[in-house]
Amino acid sequence: MQLQTTYPNNNYPIIVEHNAFEELSEYIQDYDKVFLIIDEYVDFNFKTKFMPLLESTHIYKIIVPAGEKMKSFEHYQQTLEHLLEYNLTRNTCLVAIGGGATGDFTGFLASSLLRGVDFIQVPTTILAHDSSVGGKVGINSIHGKNLIGAFYRPKAVIYDLNFLATLPYDEILSGYAEVYKHALLTGQVAVDDIEKHFSTKEKLQSLNDIDQFIFKGIKAKLNVIIKDEKEHNMRKYLNLGHTFGHAVEYKTKIPHGHAVMIGIIYQFIVANILLDTQFDISYYANYLKKLHYPVQIVQQLNFNDMYHYMLTDKKNNGEGIQMVLLEELGKPRVCHVEKTILIKAFDDLQLVLK
Ligand code: NAD
Ligand code: ZN
Repeated sequence: MQLQTTYPNNNYPIIVEHNAFEELSEYIQDYDKVFLIIDEYVDFNFKTKFMPLLESTHIYKIIVPAGEKMKSFEHYQQTLEHLLEYNLTRNTCLVAIGGGATGDFTGFLASSLLRGVDFIQVPTTILAHDSSVGGKVGINSIHGKNLIGAFYRPKAVIYDLNFLATLPYDEILSGYAEVYKHALLTGQVAVDDIEKHFSTKEKLQSLNDIDQFIFKGIKAKLNVIIKDEKEHNMRKYLNLGHTFGHAVEYKTKIPHGHAVMIGIIYQFIVANILLDTQFDISYYANYLKKLHYPVQIVQQLNFNDMYHYMLTDKKNNGEGIQMVLLEELGKPRVCHVEKTILIKAFDDLQLVLK
């Protein structure tokens, strides 16, 4: 399955297929130098996949620490200086091979190296179907996640589904939250379809047909970001579940997607109170339990901590907390939410996720 972005210029192809990695050589043959920036676990699991490329004298490999650790200032500086030892020209390409952390990190390196060199995304997690598309790249600051970064589009996204075979269930769960979120933003039919396909832990673990849902997820995201690349309005919809989700993530350090799923339930509760929607909260709560999301963690939280973190959300304005709420499936809207409603919804959340 392939698609192409539809910006006015600088478009890029997105290829989602088993064995898509074989197509990479075509995209990198004309560069003076190419660096494969590879997450250490991915390199460990798929070393032989990279060997043929490394026989070329202009292709090099740089292994980076697994996951979030790599998105630090120190590591950014160290890798930039290391790259500059190669006497680079601007005709250089960096290829990010790993999850969202590798993509964000490598994209930011590419955006600043020699004032910008090309980069290609090769996502290896489910979550990275989301992060590899849209051109947001960056690293973390001591003041918070992703606070140092850029909007910088890749030259291509090459999503080889064979990489997903070694993902632990926890990473599947974390990525699935964003795929599910994209279905919620699409509409009732999409939600029914995905819930039917992945109705239990066993079914989700098998990853049967995940390719079509990843593809639909990418399309849903593209629909939004083509119209609003720099998050002036519609791109905010992609933050569904993230206002409360980020607060849970900061406080508990559970994986991003696990926290977002809890944030999605919270959003349903707030919508029922504020917009008078009739979402069946226990239905969604049971769905998360069936998939083994660690929802009991909300019993350890207290509202004041959550409120403190929610106040730092980038969507907020002078009025206070702004959340994305669903008026109905497929119909998101950004709403200001009063503290009293947030408290009531928090109490309900603890009850329903017992
Ligand atoms: P990640 O890159 O940290 O990967 C998660 C873990 O899985 C890591 O330990 C990694 O080593 C391991 N891993 C990766 N591929 C694997 C494979 N094929 N088999 C086995 N293990 C594998 O995290 P992620 O969940 O992919 O992405 C989260 C990151 O993405 C965060 O840094 C977040 O800020 C970022 N993000 C960015 C955007 C964006 O628009 N730029 C959007 C969402 C998330
Ligand atoms: Zn997210």
